[in-house]
Amino acid sequence: MKADPLILVVEDEVPMRRLLKASLLSHSYRCIEAELGTQALELVATHNPDLVLLDLGLPDMDGLEIAAELRTWTQVPIIIISARGKEDDKVRALDAGADDYVTKPFSSRELLARLRVALRHGQMDSSGKTAVELSVGALQIDLERRRVSIAGRDIRLTPIQFKLLSVLAKHAGKVLTHRQMLVETWGQAYASESHYLRVYMAQLRNKLEEEPARPQYLITEHGVGYRLNTEPQTKLNSCSDGSSGGVPTSGIVTRNAAPPDGRLDALIEPP
Ligand code: CA
Repeated sequence: MKADPLILVVEDEVPMRRLLKASLLSHSYRCIEAELGTQALELVATHNPDLVLLDLGLPDMDGLEIAAELRTWTQVPIIIISARGKEDDKVRALDAGADDYVTKPFSSRELLARLRVALRHGQMDSSGKTAVELSVGALQIDLERRRVSIAGRDIRLTPIQFKLLSVLAKHAGKVLTHRQMLVETWGQAYASESHYLRVYMAQLRNKLEEEPARPQYLITEHGVGYRLNTEPQTKLNSCSDGSSGGVPTSGIVTRNAAPPDGRLDALIEPP
């Protein structure tokens, strides 16, 4: 049996570090700690953690530098811990390769939900498998057959709308910056055309959300980007579980690509 996931906590404030550690240990994670950026880099190299929780404000190094440095040689999932009101820092950290963020103060429930998503993505990335079907609440997305439905009712999407939704679905549960979504959907030349996103996200919400002004699935992360919510609070949700990896609170079912004819990897490249 595989050992419990090893989490590296990088945080200089002692009370916060203790809190994080206690929360992790009580949920069957193993934990190592660093209070400086230099220690963090060393520990990632020597202990090969499954995930890094990274505070942006450290005494010796900027968290952004650490994230960028790590990304030169490892794909270990990184979750940023950041103070409220530092949207620019979050965006830069995400663009530098961090996977997600939590904003202080955060609940342990929120942190653990982010951890599960990031660890699941980390595993899929390293196994080269990609989810091809997502079921979140009443929303079903089949990336292979390019089919989207709500409560069993097929929803017709334009190619661009589908492309945008599939970008969110491939990173389900994770926040994506405007830049990341634009580049993945339209290409590098469109990296700063944020108005495209506003237009197409509004179209998608009109088609997919019961109340487009109060979305359950397509969530705005203010000043940062968007997230496909994998834990919608929906009454319709009959949450088919038995999903992989013991992820009890998630309404997401991912079936890993096991293409009988080896065709799939060409269609849906790993993120
Ligand atoms: Ca700090």
